[in-house]
Amino acid sequence: MPFPQSLIQGYRAFLDGRLRREQDRYRELGETGQAPEVMVIGCCDSRVSPEVIFDARPGELFVVRNVANIVPPYQPDGQAHGVSAALEFGVAALKVKHIVVLGHARCGGVKAFAEDAEPLSPGDFIGKWMRLMAPAADKAGPRGALSWPDYLTRLEQANVANSIDNLLTFPRLRQRVERGQLALHGAYFGVASGQLSVRDETTGAFVPIAADQHARLFTPPSASR
Ligand SMILES: [Zn+2]
Repeated sequence: MPFPQSLIQGYRAFLDGRLRREQDRYRELGETGQAPEVMVIGCCDSRVSPEVIFDARPGELFVVRNVANIVPPYQPDGQAHGVSAALEFGVAALKVKHIVVLGHARCGGVKAFAEDAEPLSPGDFIGKWMRLMAPAADKAGPRGALSWPDYLTRLEQANVANSIDNLLTFPRLRQRVERGQLALHGAYFGVASGQLSVRDETTGAFVPIAADQHARLFTPPSASR
């Protein structure tokens, strides 16, 4: 099967657009190396690309993506840990100043966890990975009178908070936070609405940002999520 035509066309558009405009920057980044100030931990979901949402230029974001934007707790057991390796590099080597955990609406991973859907056998990877969300479900509390979509939103946001808590289990990372050298943030992207919310560190609530600009540009979507 040949290399996808859509990717070739996309690359041609990149050549005509971004590379033409920013070739000096690419050259400079190639020579001096990257020095991003922001690390983003996001979901693999194709609708939630951090570089697109934050209109980021090359060299600006250090991004790690996985199913449901999960940070596993610190576990120095000699095994290979992808997120932990990226954190080690981002925090110790690049010395990023901010880490943003970016959750989103309609997250398939969170939904699968909530529905206890087990499309794969227990030996497969996604089931074990999603079990890392169990503390987030505890944080979210029982569904109670919430509608199913509202409960999923709560769970998606609790999952962001849980990832932030797990970030703090990494000793060197925690040390940098306590010294004021690193800040941790939670954010949440509404896929249907395009609205980004940022977690208030004190209340834990997710507050829409640039809401006035968003309201001017978009008519309310039929679904708020
Ligand atoms: Zn997701």
